[in-house]
Amino acid sequence: MAGFFDSKIEFLKGVGPQRAEMLRKELNIFTFGDLIQHYPFRYEDRTHFTRVSELNLSMSQVQLRGFIRGYRLSGKPGRQRLEASFYDDTGETGLVWFQGAKWVIPKLQKGTEFVVFGKPMSYNNRVYVAHPEIDPYMPHKEPDTFLQPVYATTEKLRSGFLGSKGIYKLQKVLLDKALPNIRETLPPAFIKKYNLAGKLFAVKNIHIPESHEALELARYRLKFEEFFYIQLQLLKSKSERYKKFSGFVLPDTKLLTRFYNEVLTFSLTASQKKVMHELYNDMKSGRQMNRLLQGDVGSGKTIIAFLAMLLSVGNGCQATLMAPTEILAEQHYNNLKLYADELRIGMNILTGSTRKSERKKILEELQTGVTDILIGTHALIEEDVAFHKLGLSVIDEQHRFGVAQRAKLWKKNPEAYPHVLVMTATPIPRTLAMTLYGDLDVSVIDELPHGRKPVKTYIQFDSSRLKVFGFIRKQVTDGRQVYIVYPLIEESEKVDLKHLYDGYESIARAFPDTGISIVHGRQKPADKEIEMKRFSSGETRIMVSTTVIEVGIHVENATVMIIENAERFGLAQLHQLRGRVGRGADQSYCILMTDPGISKEAKTRLQTLVKTNDGFEIADMDLQLRGPGDITGTQQSGALDLLIGNLGTDGFILQKAREAAIEIIETDPELGNPENRNIREQINSQGMNVINWSRIS
Ligand code: ADP
Ligand code: MG
Repeated sequence: MAGFFDSKIEFLKGVGPQRAEMLRKELNIFTFGDLIQHYPFRYEDRTHFTRVSELNLSMSQVQLRGFIRGYRLSGKPGRQRLEASFYDDTGETGLVWFQGAKWVIPKLQKGTEFVVFGKPMSYNNRVYVAHPEIDPYMPHKEPDTFLQPVYATTEKLRSGFLGSKGIYKLQKVLLDKALPNIRETLPPAFIKKYNLAGKLFAVKNIHIPESHEALELARYRLKFEEFFYIQLQLLKSKSERYKKFSGFVLPDTKLLTRFYNEVLTFSLTASQKKVMHELYNDMKSGRQMNRLLQGDVGSGKTIIAFLAMLLSVGNGCQATLMAPTEILAEQHYNNLKLYADELRIGMNILTGSTRKSERKKILEELQTGVTDILIGTHALIEEDVAFHKLGLSVIDEQHRFGVAQRAKLWKKNPEAYPHVLVMTATPIPRTLAMTLYGDLDVSVIDELPHGRKPVKTYIQFDSSRLKVFGFIRKQVTDGRQVYIVYPLIEESEKVDLKHLYDGYESIARAFPDTGISIVHGRQKPADKEIEMKRFSSGETRIMVSTTVIEVGIHVENATVMIIENAERFGLAQLHQLRGRVGRGADQSYCILMTDPGISKEAKTRLQTLVKTNDGFEIADMDLQLRGPGDITGTQQSGALDLLIGNLGTDGFILQKAREAAIEIIETDPELGNPENRNIREQINSQGMNVINWSRIS
């Protein structure tokens, strides 16, 4: 039965074919259900009047009550500006319109008391209210407009009388008919346990709030529901994968223990040990492991990966480690090959620049099982790379790999799925991880190896450049090494490269006797390589580069990271760059070069970095400042396309909703219980889908 909420939007009174077409095109609203779930993104509080004397620029919107003293029209026709002076008994301010004067002027009657609503802004050094709505004051307003909902809309829709107010009118028409058709979509037990408002109440109050309290309840309820169904979906696919896919059983720890006792020169931190146990429990269980390992830069993820690979090798299977860049793959290879040789196990590296003849040999050794561990880049997932018996795939710095690429690695083994360990050095806020990787198990390394000193971070302005040079000189004289990083983005690549070279030249002038390297993405890989090696061997002391050094590079002797135009980088990236220093025993420093005139948000970013070294705290702040889409850089990650929930601020609700979903998965995964009928119906219903399942899978 096609439900009420499947009705096509053109059948709503006041819509019609033309507006329906606009709603479909502009807002993806096809049905009644789509419209009713087009929730307001904010509300304007029309209960409160600001006095003119209180006006200031920090207010996002104000409602004033008063009179017009006069107005003035200026500028050429077509670019006319209308300014009116407006007063109440506390003072006088300006109202300004840059268009539509001919609609406004007839309204501006002296002696009429007005309500003005808009955003204060500064213009010609005065505070104005720009483009306000202006209406005669009516002492007895309709009660349903005191918290005025504001809906997302577009210019095009506005021109078709479907601005926020137009959409509000449609919602009212729709609600009248819809209310009797709204079913409860959560089990009564959850509503009680989590103190939730009913569905009917929530839908009504999200569009037409009766009070602030009612609105809060409505939002909480709808967010809970949205998170609940996403989590239920993720957890369900996880539990199904558990049932369906078996992984190799890898119980033998002899090789791993020998390495740990006889070869490795340091002992694991408590946090690393805990994670190792989690991996071992998965890998000996016979169930395919799908685990995300999060750990801040420098927390020692690589050694965990290597230990897990040894577990695989020690049980007669192979293992791979896939890195996002060749430089990183080679670095892993160079470090781990020393261990492999001592253990007499076969290790190879395969990248895009591996020569053809060599590649053939590598693939042969892989297929015959001579190679135990293969390290590489994307080159690993090409069709012709076939393993003898792949037991574990490790993916380093996960954020550079898509889900599809992950899946390709799984399929490298026909017999059973290899265990998969995904490592990320960009800590992901818990809320985001729960949504993006809700189907993976998560391990966290939350301490740094002992003896590390936290990097000290400072903001410096260009005016202090001489001081900064003096600091570099001192560090270099003391035998340390220095990174200087310049931003480079594609859109302004030429200018950016020029800055990089200018910077290089001024450094070269200031340090004529010091070896200096320069590295950027436009160099030939071989040249890049040579410069990197010169720096890591200590031949050059200063490395001037773009963010190509961002991930993974490990030079213990480097103690200074200078980031030019730091305001142009994102928080996660700054944190990542800073992670390149502080890797040895010496005190390290990160200097953020910028100028005083940067935006407030940029300031917050830089200050966050000064304040904390904790990647998780930084990730949380990043999420709040940027919103989730940007962080993952994946526009297609549909799970983030939330109707009402906000991953940056709703962590608590998400946590509760996940608890509820876990309860269902644990007690009634098939949804056979009569108490869970609402969930079953919701999932089966073609009607008012709370979330669009197709977007999430
Ligand atoms: P990341 O987590 O950023 O990938 P790495 O795995 O590169 O960090 O580790 C950084 C450095 O710390 C490496 O030189 C590694 O050998 C070292 N390291 C890792 N774990 C420990 C430990 N428990 N004690 C001392 N040093 C460690
Ligand atoms: Mg690493």
